[in-house]
Amino acid sequence: MPIYDYQCQKCSRRFELLVMPRQKPSCPHCGSTGLARLFSPAAAVSTTRTRARSMAVARSKAGATKKEQDHAHAEYLRKHNEDH
Ligand SMILES: [Zn+2]
Repeated sequence: MPIYDYQCQKCSRRFELLVMPRQKPSCPHCGSTGLARLFSPAAAVSTTRTRARSMAVARSKAGATKKEQDHAHAEYLRKHNEDH
């Protein structure tokens, strides 16, 4: 579930809220539901980190696929040699 930064438009306080599906977020200080969602630098950092991690995963997946192809090729050569 996503955590967003909000600023209350009533008491002007900033806070992070875990957003529940179908539930309107309200200010934990004054209970107002007049909130403005902020895009915090912390969220940007974690997005960058997530992107770097998914890139690393993509790289390791590509490496695994390459290995499998090499293995399949070796298997093909082995079978080919056995046939003759
Ligand atoms: Zn408030």
